Amino acid sequence: MAQNYYCKYCGFSSGNVNSLTSGNCQYHPNGTYKGYHVLYEGSIKSSYTCKYCGQASSHIASLTSGNCQRHPNGIYKGHHEPAL
Ligand SMILES: [Zn+2]
Ligand SMILES: [Zn+2]
Repeated sequence: MAQNYYCKYCGFSSGNVNSLTSGNCQYHPNGTYKGYHVLYEGSIKSSYTCKYCGQASSHIASLTSGNCQRHPNGIYKGHHEPAL
């Protein structure tokens, strides 16, 4: 079965790391599409928890679509990021 790889910033998924990391990421910490997708290196889970604030969601994409009140860049200055 094909494995899916996910971007830890936006939840974008691809069948291989090369094509994942060649695309620009809309939730990149440097700004919208200001950098490439970055591989989420944790295990695939039924629930993902934000490492900053503890918010949980069943999909990386839905977790990272929200702004995080404990983001290191400032309150709601960035998106949730899944813990590994
Ligand atoms: Zn991304
Ligand atoms: Zn958060």
